[in-house]
Amino acid sequence: VAKRLEKFKTTIFTQMSMLAIKHGAINLGQGFPNFDGPEFVKEAAIQAIKDGKNQYARGYGVPDLNSAVASRFKKDTGLEVDPEKEVTVTSGCTEAIAATMLGLINNSDEVILFAPFYDSYEATLSMAGAKIKCITLRPPDFSVPIDELKSAISKNTRAILINTPHNPTGKMFTREELNVIASLCIENDVLVFTDEVYDKLSFEMDHISMASLPGMYERTVTMNSLGKTFSLTGWKIGWAIAPPHLTWGLRQAHSFLTFATCTPMQYAAAAALRAPESYYEELKRDYGAKKAILVEGLKAVGFKVFPSSGTYFVVVDHTPFGLKDDIAFCEYLIKEIGVVAIPTSVFYLNPEDGKNLVRFTFCKDEGTLRSAVKRMKEKL
Ligand code: GLN
Repeated sequence: VAKRLEKFKTTIFTQMSMLAIKHGAINLGQGFPNFDGPEFVKEAAIQAIKDGKNQYARGYGVPDLNSAVASRFKKDTGLEVDPEKEVTVTSGCTEAIAATMLGLINNSDEVILFAPFYDSYEATLSMAGAKIKCITLRPPDFSVPIDELKSAISKNTRAILINTPHNPTGKMFTREELNVIASLCIENDVLVFTDEVYDKLSFEMDHISMASLPGMYERTVTMNSLGKTFSLTGWKIGWAIAPPHLTWGLRQAHSFLTFATCTPMQYAAAAALRAPESYYEELKRDYGAKKAILVEGLKAVGFKVFPSSGTYFVVVDHTPFGLKDDIAFCEYLIKEIGVVAIPTSVFYLNPEDGKNLVRFTFCKDEGTLRSAVKRMKEKL
């Protein structure tokens, strides 16, 4: 394996989902729903295939989807973007992240990450040859340590990567935090790359897009996808919204990574994004009920549960159960209890920082969540 990828192992999500199957454990690890996406979106995909939308799509997205993304962004942020020049369709947000890093970061540029962070950020930054500076968000509220952030910025800082709502903690960046980050970026001429794939799963507060803050659109790449909002994580349809000068860079990388994204699914994605507001309300209501079952259940089991404002994840402190670290705890939980969670140490540059925390997901039907809680109550 190439040196720049030597340190990365099989992703923790794959490892844990394989163990779930092997041990017949209930999988509250990898974040994928165990229920299907909406019928009208699936129908739109079938129709697109039947209508012969099966050859290469235009590289940066089929016009219908670029427009639907721009309209949705206008509803969400009030910003008017040009669907042709500022929206790029990618194969999932994961590809948008890779294209952004590879298309906009030079060797030895510094990029600031907040730990815990989603694993692909570090790997794609490493592919881009970036130097990572990492700032740790700490429990109980995982707020941004502003002084540490200020001292991490140097003349070589090219970008700050934000993920809100935040995987794995469920933290949502507050307006105050975003304002401070924005003014530091403007002052120091730094870009923001923001991964907002959980924006429609915000429970305790309203989601705020960095791009909507004064002076920020022109220095921000906003990334999102279809998977979480429409329970279609396997479709791998994502997009990046950015001003033309940044879009140019990420499109260059996208052209040579995947060239174009699956054509019929793009038409279906456009149909999905035109869903009425009631779809989004119902999604939030359903997930709110699932969240309550899991959070109350985990508390009753005896975990210390940290508040999660968004995403379909919740992080707990496992130390009341006496295992030596998060990896040992998750192994015990799979083999002895029959439930899968994700150890969080893999989301940190310094794994020690995550050794007391594990992540559970509630993107499962209510029966599954209840069974998992029951197993833990009885046996843990
Ligand atoms: N985003 C999903 C999670 O955090 C996992 C995606 C993946 O398996 N790469 O669980």
